[in-house]
Parts: sequence; C-alpha cells; structure tokens
Amino acid sequence: MSLDVFLRHRFPDFSADVSFSAPAPGVTALFGPSGCGKSTVLSAVSGLLRADEVRVVLDGIVLSDLPPERRRIGVVFQEGRLFPHLSVRDNLRYGLRRAPPGPIDPDETVELLGIGHLLKRYPATLSGGERQRVAIGRALLSQPRLLVMDEPLAALDAARKAEILPYLARLRDSLRTPVLYVSHAMEEVARLADTLVLMEAGRVIGCGPVGEIAARADLPLALGNDAGAI
Ligand code: ADP
Ligand code: MG
Repeated sequence: MSLDVFLRHRFPDFSADVSFSAPAPGVTALFGPSGCGKSTVLSAVSGLLRADEVRVVLDGIVLSDLPPERRRIGVVFQEGRLFPHLSVRDNLRYGLRRAPPGPIDPDETVELLGIGHLLKRYPATLSGGERQRVAIGRALLSQPRLLVMDEPLAALDAARKAEILPYLARLRDSLRTPVLYVSHAMEEVARLADTLVLMEAGRVIGCGPVGEIAARADLPLALGNDAGAI
C-alpha cells in the first residue's frame, strides 16, 4: 500500500515539480528549507490550492479526482486553529461530525494525546502544545484517510516541543492512518517519520527510509533528547 503524489504548479516566482511515493500507512516527512515548497505540496494534496496538475493516489484511490470535501484529509496547521468559542470537548465533537466508521477510536485517541483532563476547557486557556494536541485529536476523530500536518510544532518554544513530541511518537506507534508531516526540524523528522522526502527549490532531491536518505544527504540525525531515537 502506498501514497503517491505528483504535483506541478507554477506561482509567479516559484515552480514546484514534485513526485514521490511512500509506504502507507506510515509517517512521511516532507523536509527542506523554508520556501522550498513543502506547504505548497500539502495545500495541493488537501485541495486548498488548486494546482496546475496534481495527482494523489492512496491505496489505489485517486483522491485528487474527488472534490476537496470528499477527500477526507485531516489537516493540522502550525497554529491550532481551534474554534475559540467551543470547549475542547465540542471542538473534538466537531471532528466527529459526519465521521464515517473508521479505525480511530475517540477514547483511545483522547488518551494517547493526553487531553482527557482538558475537555471542559476553552482554547484560550490552553498552552500551545495542548492546543496542538487537541487540533490533532479533532482532525483524527473525523476518520481521515490521510492526516496532513504543516509544521505543527513550529510555533512552540523548545519546552513545549519537548512536551508534545512523546505524544506524537506514541500516536505514531498506534496509528493506522497515513500521515504527511511537514517540518524543517530534523529532530522531529528523526523522531516521527518512517519515510523522508527531501525537498529543495520545488523539487524532490531524495526519498526513502529516513536513516538512508539522511545519511546520503549528510543530515545529522543526532537528537537532543532520549527515547524514540532511530
Ligand atoms: P515552504 O512551506 O517549504 O516554506 P511554500 O510552499 O510555502 O514553502 O512556498 C514556496 C514558494 O512558493 C515560496 O517562494 C512562496 O513565496 C511561493 N508561494 C507560496 N504560496 C504562494 C501564493 N499563494 N502565491 C504566490 N507565491 C506563493
Ligand atoms: Mg510552509
């Protein structure tokens, strides 16, 4: 089973010509410097951007042939984007709205993300890391075919990042939903991803198992913290 992405898109000052194939389920990280086109790929995959040419195939289903609302792609942005006037519980319920039957168990997800004690709270009272955990939970409860996350930790300070990474790693270990994860932080990629898609200036310059591609590109996988290292 695999996730296959092909994209061609031209902005006035930038062109993306991207193609990769990754095992699914699994976490596939798009990694590369700021401005190399990572968010463009995610926007095209999720349908937020109407790309010049895009083809996304997941387990034989051509998602890009479906209108965005029927692709069932869960999206998590850099900033949580929770509904501020809804409690955590109601934000999560929003994810359940119209969710078809699927492998995600709401109780297990809430437990894995460590957000059970936050259900009555409102987004403004949460830390950045808590907010992101709720945003990820909400996206998952909609039973997405694919979860895409665009630098979900980039807005957090180092302490919050360290706090949320173990939750993401635990989730990764039990999740059967394929994930496309954008980051320009090697530590996150090393900790969370199975497959690394290395990008530069709108092109893919390497794709394969994280260790292999990182070694070939001479990227340091050394981690600042303990468990979960590859
Ligand atoms: P990354 O996520 O890797 O930092 P992006 O995909 O956001 O990179 O951007 C890649 C390039 O595409 C940048 O040069 C950016 O200015 C350009 N770009 C992104 N979105 C638009 C847009 N809506 N209109 C014009 N140019 C854009
Ligand atoms: Mg980006």
